[in-house]
Amino acid sequence: MHFYPDANDLTRLRLTIASIFIKGGDGLEIAPWENPLFVAGCNIRHVEINPEHVTQPGQILDNGEVLATVPAGSLDFIIACHVLEHFENPIGAIRTHLGKLKPHGWLYYILPDKNFKTCDQFRDTTPFEHMLEDYRNNKPPARSDPGHLHVWNDETAYEFFVEVNKLLGHPYRLVHFSVNPPNLENIIMLEKVREAK
Ligand SMILES: [Zn+2]
Repeated sequence: MHFYPDANDLTRLRLTIASIFIKGGDGLEIAPWENPLFVAGCNIRHVEINPEHVTQPGQILDNGEVLATVPAGSLDFIIACHVLEHFENPIGAIRTHLGKLKPHGWLYYILPDKNFKTCDQFRDTTPFEHMLEDYRNNKPPARSDPGHLHVWNDETAYEFFVEVNKLLGHPYRLVHFSVNPPNLENIIMLEKVREAK
């Protein structure tokens, strides 16, 4: 028998970690739809790929893997909760996101962890080599949500961010990695320290 806390508890750790690092400024949350993160003192615009999810002023209709409407070097942070696993080319997306940040901007990623009996529990974790191939082939983004294309647990997610950092010439510092069991996920905060190669 598991005890699952209510929706407020589910997002509490997400918000606590976000608030330690993100202290204000202009940023995006990619595809939050009905569950956005409200970080105190921040101006957060929401990016949605589905026109039906663009319901309020200030929201952006764009593909979160591409962010074609967002100028390079313009943001203090990007938040993406349960989003990277939906992208065709997660490494390419991280590189794109880094390019949209100002120096010392924050990338806040939250990934589902298959070890916590998510919908991915019976799938294998995706080998890094697979995502490297997606990156080298410059795999084009999907036009609508394709579902979960890539699967991680805590070990492979940590390794993934270490390997991506090496691949891109150490553009970030991995300043936080934690496991959030009530919400079946891993929480990752990256600080941009240089442009990706
Ligand atoms: Zn893939």
